[in-house]
Amino acid sequence: MELLIERKRVSSALGKSNLPGLDYTLNPYIGCSHGCIYCYARLYCEPRIGKNWGKIVVVKENIAEILARELRRKKKGLVGLSTITDAYQPIEAETKLTRELLRILLENNFKVSIQTKSSLVLRDLELLCAKKGLVDVGFTITTLNERISKIVEPGASPPSDRVKALEKLSAEGIKTWIFLGPIIPEISEESFNGIVEIAKATNSLLYYDKYRVKPYMSGFAKELAEKAKNTDWIGIANRLKELCKAKGVEFTSGFGDLKI
Ligand code: SF4
Repeated sequence: MELLIERKRVSSALGKSNLPGLDYTLNPYIGCSHGCIYCYARLYCEPRIGKNWGKIVVVKENIAEILARELRRKKKGLVGLSTITDAYQPIEAETKLTRELLRILLENNFKVSIQTKSSLVLRDLELLCAKKGLVDVGFTITTLNERISKIVEPGASPPSDRVKALEKLSAEGIKTWIFLGPIIPEISEESFNGIVEIAKATNSLLYYDKYRVKPYMSGFAKELAEKAKNTDWIGIANRLKELCKAKGVEFTSGFGDLKI
């Protein structure tokens, strides 16, 4: 199935967040063409999109207008951009929707936390640099192995591009972080050293999370799920802890439930 792009009008922009540290969520798209095989976001979409994950993306075409209206009455807070899609997936190069949302949020002095697997975020560097105190940018990096990444995160920027973008943002004085999650059984561990080194070099906080088994997983994702069931997650978290401690890297459990 070719990638299908649809457009829709929405009546709300900001959502209330249940994620640690975030006050609001903001998702310019429904679906994500990065198509990560383990993605949990599909659970929060209509079944048609969830079943064809990575193949259908809906552009919320009027979301910027709605956001501008909502911000007039919302209490200031930290906005997660984005939580169930990737705000910098390839369609963003064309729509510039995320750029407009970012501009509106920062103009209204809302804090923004960006999480992405795309180097396209660098396009908005000047917006980010103009309001450094209000922004942080995190890159999800589950492996530094380009070949494996192409299998598990087929539409995302290669890990090496994410690392370069992270280095650039950090060098510009933007607060950065890395999300090492989900830790892919028997795969991510070979990259632990490298990822911790990158966190050290970019002064990034390192979040980690285990591979969570979901009923919709099939094919390779299901094979990994079987391995995940037999994985000693506390042992893995401890190995990561040792590496982080040795390098002086701050690290924490992504969702707070794998604390060590
Ligand atoms: S980039 Fe994020 S939202 Fe997009 S498919 Fe991957 S895990 Fe899901």
